[in-house]
Amino acid sequence: MFAEVILPLPLYSTFTYSIPAEMSGDVVVGSRVLVQFGTRKFYTGIVACVHPNRPEGYDVKPISGLLDPKPIVRRSQLRLWDWIAEYYLCSPGEVFKAAVPTGLKPESTTRISLNPDADLSEAEGMITEKEAEIIQLVSAEKKLTIGEIEKSTGIRNVTSIIKRLIEKNILEVSEKIIERYKPKYEKMIRLKASPDDHEALHSMMGMLSRSKQQEKALIAYLDLSQWLSRREGALEVTRQSLIDKAGVSPAVIKNLENKGILEVYKKIINPFNTSSVLPSVLPELSAAQLKAYQNIISQFNDHNTVLLHGVTGSGKTEIYSHLIRTVMDSGKSVLMLVPEISLTTQLTDRLRRNFGDRLLVYHSKFSDNERVEVWKQVMTSTEPLMVLGARSAVFLPFHNLGLVIVDEEHESSYKQFDPAPRYNARDTSIVLASMHGAKTLLGSATPAVETYYKALHGKYGLVTLTERYEDARLPEVEIVDMRDQRKRKLNYGIFSQPLKLATDDALKAGRQALMFQNRRGFAPYVVCRNCGWTPRCVNCDVSLVYHKYSDQLRCHYCGYSIPRPALCPACEENSVEVYGYGTERIAEETHTSFPEARVARMDLDTTRNKDAYQEIIEDFSRHETDILVGTQMLSKGLDFEKVTVVGVLNADSLLNFPDFRANERAFNMLEQVAGRAGRRKDKGKVLIQTTDPDSSVLAYVKAHDYSGFYSQEIAARERLHYPPFSKIINIYIKNKDARAAEEAANLLTSALRSVFGPRVLGPEKPFVSRVATYYLQTIMLKVEATASMKKVKHILRTLYESLARDPRIKSSDLYYDVDPA
Ligand code: ADP
Ligand code: ZN
Ligand code: ZN
Repeated sequence: MFAEVILPLPLYSTFTYSIPAEMSGDVVVGSRVLVQFGTRKFYTGIVACVHPNRPEGYDVKPISGLLDPKPIVRRSQLRLWDWIAEYYLCSPGEVFKAAVPTGLKPESTTRISLNPDADLSEAEGMITEKEAEIIQLVSAEKKLTIGEIEKSTGIRNVTSIIKRLIEKNILEVSEKIIERYKPKYEKMIRLKASPDDHEALHSMMGMLSRSKQQEKALIAYLDLSQWLSRREGALEVTRQSLIDKAGVSPAVIKNLENKGILEVYKKIINPFNTSSVLPSVLPELSAAQLKAYQNIISQFNDHNTVLLHGVTGSGKTEIYSHLIRTVMDSGKSVLMLVPEISLTTQLTDRLRRNFGDRLLVYHSKFSDNERVEVWKQVMTSTEPLMVLGARSAVFLPFHNLGLVIVDEEHESSYKQFDPAPRYNARDTSIVLASMHGAKTLLGSATPAVETYYKALHGKYGLVTLTERYEDARLPEVEIVDMRDQRKRKLNYGIFSQPLKLATDDALKAGRQALMFQNRRGFAPYVVCRNCGWTPRCVNCDVSLVYHKYSDQLRCHYCGYSIPRPALCPACEENSVEVYGYGTERIAEETHTSFPEARVARMDLDTTRNKDAYQEIIEDFSRHETDILVGTQMLSKGLDFEKVTVVGVLNADSLLNFPDFRANERAFNMLEQVAGRAGRRKDKGKVLIQTTDPDSSVLAYVKAHDYSGFYSQEIAARERLHYPPFSKIINIYIKNKDARAAEEAANLLTSALRSVFGPRVLGPEKPFVSRVATYYLQTIMLKVEATASMKKVKHILRTLYESLARDPRIKSSDLYYDVDPA
């Protein structure tokens, strides 16, 4: 028999391996196997199918190892992988790579060692200095990876030198398979006797009466295991807890084991069963919430997908909890997706209270080991589970799924951009649900235009919730004209008079404020006043941003940085100035303008540490800080009771973005940040500073008028033929050589045009045309919404294959972004 194996590589097909006799019957669809690929490298692969057809024309290698007794991937997952690869135009291997935690994909690493047969004296004289250095290092260390050799010697391009030494038979390579996942073991203890056997207990006590220590240990065991009060089976406790409780040495336990009283054994522990929080009664729904809840259930009768359009603070999370409870009570599992950034302890604690240890959280901040644990738990659990996760949670091995909830469904972070698969987790989860016969609930205060269009046209059900919980009112929004403020000299630096006064009032009343600025760093513009010089990134087509704390100029695309020059590098005058405001500078000015207030800042720079984000939010929740300055991180689903003022320091950059989704993004972001204000009894106030006070987007935010905004936006989309009235596939071409990228793009464009005609736009350089030393070209393919995407994608694939051998195409990286966010 033969197995088709998916490898974690960007290859468009599976590979065939023969199944050795000793594994036959055990290698099945979804099995995890170790196979050799290429001359020596080993990879973990997943068996996609098993068949009797010997491939022709080459020697088939056997499967080298079967990694688990049972499959770790379900058939339904493989179908989802296929759908993703097909829909998002990538390979099944790329999907596999993204879908399965690294800990489940051991692969071999190449290691270099001295060839035992090498005759070094013979080679003497023919060896360069660098070669000698490497030989010396390898003979001292026995086995090293190429990376380790590079690091220790500091020689660049060691690969070519190592290759030469291998050809000279001085070094040799071997492969070692690295197993990354390590299950946690704990030593457990139980009594040998049965709990019902009181006689045995008495005789044991008698046996131990001469050893106080052993008696103490036994009593501690009985206490811990509640042996006396429980009646079923032998009860186990951890060895450590027994030692702690009894205050005895490990030797005492050993003696009890030797006497045949206690039994000590190892057990894989499940980190999720340690939670002692028991599910509680859910908060009762308000009348409006209850109506929405019932409406959702009845809409599910004739729709697989329902949109819950509920204003910020309407209690969508409570409605989700009630639905989750209902679905789990019916014996089915639930997946709830949230944007990565909303996976705060605020939310997990709230859900943990409701679902106890049935709640599993899947998070990219988790260690890989922890993610493997969740995977295994989902794979093996016979009880219904509730999984809360970021976008990659759609890849977990669900069975018996009843409901998928996608909170903040409009969030563009559901779309993965780099690397492939460039999938949208919201759209993927609708497919996932339908494969399980489950329902999908999309929730948002500002639904994506495409989602709302589908809901209005009956493709999805629609449920609306227009009021906040407990009559909290939506915040009042004031648009502040900054040009007017400056003309009349009313502003305090970056703060307009209304924002300054409102914040003063809030602070005086013991409330808190949020200040939102969509730029990090200190100042985004650095210019020489004398000659106009501006610092540019050497790797990217962008200018550098000034960071005051580190006194550096930094690229926000690739991380390149240089110290701030004292003199202008072009004219050597002391005339380099910084302009504009990033969050770092806003925080500094906030300190100055509100000297009494405790100010914190939340942006990419202050949240690089693992727990920093969490800490900033918790400090603010406990009112240990008064004003929180931050980027759009502030807009994501946070629930702070005492925030009454939200300042948007400069809305201009949001409003002027060259992209068909710019208005949608601006409206969503502003409405969401505004939604952080006045979520309880206090009325909230939002002040939006701009130099474009007449912008229609701002007027809709002021009125909290989603449907007005939607009507304007959908008309524009129809006029300009953008989604949902068309489907877009962006094609990216990447090359380190600018000319080659351009030539490849031209070649591909004319080939595309011969098939798709005017539906092909470009090629053009994107807004940022060079990133991390690669020059980019993009081609946009815009096809009718009614076109068969299957056909379109088939044409794209064949076209690429026919061009792939052209050196201009071959030297470039090419990838597709289907339904760009
Ligand atoms: P949304 O997700 O729609 O923005 P939330 O679910 O965060 O709204 O609700 C806003 C606040 O109101 C939360 O603090 C929540 O605990 C509270 N809340 C909403 N509904 C209820 C309810 N039925 N009972 C008690 N508290 C509620
Ligand atoms: Zn200058
Ligand atoms: Zn850069």
